[in-house]
Amino acid sequence: MPDLSVEAPAEVSPSVYADLGVPPVINAWGTMTRLGGSLMDPRVLEAMEEASHAFVDIPTLQLAAGRRIANLLGAEAACITAGAAAGLAVASAACMTGGKAAKVAQLPDVSGMPDVVLMLASHRFQYDGAVRLSGARIVDVGQPEKARLRDVEAALYSDVAMFLYTGQEEFVAGSIALEELAPLLQEHGVPLVVDAAAEIPPRERIPRYFAQGASLVILSGGKALRGPQSSGLILGRADLVEQCAANNYPNVSVGRSMKTDKETIVGLLRAVEIYCETDEDETRAGWEQVVDELLRGLPSTSQVTVRRVIPTIPDIQPLNIPRVYIGGDRIEPARVQRLLLDRRPRPVAVGVSVDGAEVALNPQCLRLEEVPEVVKALREVLPL
Ligand SMILES: *Cc1c(COP(=O)(O)O)cnc(C)c1O
Repeated sequence: MPDLSVEAPAEVSPSVYADLGVPPVINAWGTMTRLGGSLMDPRVLEAMEEASHAFVDIPTLQLAAGRRIANLLGAEAACITAGAAAGLAVASAACMTGGKAAKVAQLPDVSGMPDVVLMLASHRFQYDGAVRLSGARIVDVGQPEKARLRDVEAALYSDVAMFLYTGQEEFVAGSIALEELAPLLQEHGVPLVVDAAAEIPPRERIPRYFAQGASLVILSGGKALRGPQSSGLILGRADLVEQCAANNYPNVSVGRSMKTDKETIVGLLRAVEIYCETDEDETRAGWEQVVDELLRGLPSTSQVTVRRVIPTIPDIQPLNIPRVYIGGDRIEPARVQRLLLDRRPRPVAVGVSVDGAEVALNPQCLRLEEVPEVVKALREVLPL
């Protein structure tokens, strides 16, 4: 039996939600933070429960768990944060302060520090605010449709603290390959930080980022890793990770308002262990099965085209998750999405393709048993 990404047969309406009148959502959208990101494996919850029975010295725990996680994921070192967005703030703070105590305490006042975070114009994204939270300024390089290495070179003034690369935008027009960027940045001593929050699976993507020259790689703990939703990782160069730790909870710092409790630290470690033991081919076979079942329930009609998609176009990642796309002249995907989320008693969450033209179903957080309800919901609003 393939290991479906969500195996815990949750009650249809856990009473903690039902008591509040908040209906649980069937998730055919993916690891969306808005929906709770992912569901933790029961073994992660067990580890968290166990962790809740004793006090520990948090910095010692962070170091020990970080070492083990780094080993498992093929990185030199790891810092545990309160999410990938927190990782962006903490990494920016690290690169501006070099981890020096007086400077750490001074942030977000950046006087006397390099405070520029460079980004390719095509890589600007909705999480920019997390970088600016540290006091850093983002400066665009190149044009949204076009950027050259010499644009980067021209931007490398002494006030540059780091270069932020959005993993999801790797292949868009106006992007530059990591392998091209890395040597130039290294020559100028500017850390290359990759936001890869949602770029796994596959697992091997992480060591590949380092082989391509990334100094740090930021991951969400609450997406594919299925750790606590309020967790994340900064992986990479040991000196930089140490500087991240200086800017992270429990130090009084930018990261102090982004707490990761002992249960979260232990839970994330357990989640990474489980993730590394998981057979990715089996997981993928489970997704294929869900996609097959969706396609069986939703045959195309004269007005609606239903198709299997393995995204290869830029902007949808992780790339290796099969999906179902539904389109047609009279279909307004954003409206379908809204209607299904407003559906009662069982709301269904679906995605929209990057170009906005099709409804996109992602099997990553969907159980096989939930497929009939998704099919039923779509049939209520589409001419199927
Ligand atoms: C989801 C996401 C984040 C935020 O991750 P959290 O762990 O929820 O903080 C940051 N960057 C990208 C590209 C993401 O997809």
